Amino acid sequence: MIIRSAEFVTSAVKPSQYPPGVLPEIAFAGRSNVGKSSLINTLVNRKRLVKTSGTPGRTQLVNFFEVNGTYSLVDLPGYGYAKVPLAVKKTWGPMIETYLSNRETLAGVVLIMDIRRMPRHEEFDFIAWLKQYHIPGILVLTKTDKLSRTRQLRQREAVAGALGVDVEDLILFSAQTRKGREAVWAAVAGVAGT
Ligand code: GDP
Repeated sequence: MIIRSAEFVTSAVKPSQYPPGVLPEIAFAGRSNVGKSSLINTLVNRKRLVKTSGTPGRTQLVNFFEVNGTYSLVDLPGYGYAKVPLAVKKTWGPMIETYLSNRETLAGVVLIMDIRRMPRHEEFDFIAWLKQYHIPGILVLTKTDKLSRTRQLRQREAVAGALGVDVEDLILFSAQTRKGREAVWAAVAGVAGT
């Protein structure tokens, strides 16, 4: 995917602050520190378009970006960060669910998981939400560079089994080696119908 432009559009906490839905939109979700910012930056060939906040999860914002005038990309707040105050944790679910259920231009959600960790209830809940709202999910296992090729394949099989999906439905990715970048873009184009 050739990137001609990639720009920050706006941040929002509620639907009235979302930008007008014009372009097909792809949202990115994952546990805090999973490598979500790195993945988006790799996709758009920018070092710091998406900034990693020093204290993950403190600001619960939905951030909107525009790529090539073709796609809207949305960085959803990360979940599962232990040090986030309870009050903030409690707003995460409703905020995400509000976004998923209200955004008519939402074409799909990229759910990012660390290849070294088995999915937990947050991932199962997220996938259940996507099913409930009939939103296509793109499942990505990142930080693959941390494992040998053999262990990547073994872990991919284990995660596929746990999630009840086909092995081929899990895209192997690394922000370090850029492995899987084209595969993620292909999946994005697939769900966006572009
Ligand atoms: P976020 O909180 O999900 O946005 O995660 P970040 O993108 O900020 O990444 C969290 C940490 O993991 C940072 O130290 C990154 O450098 C590192 N990281 C992210 N992706 C990869 C990857 O594919 N491989 C390796 N080795 N490290 C990664």
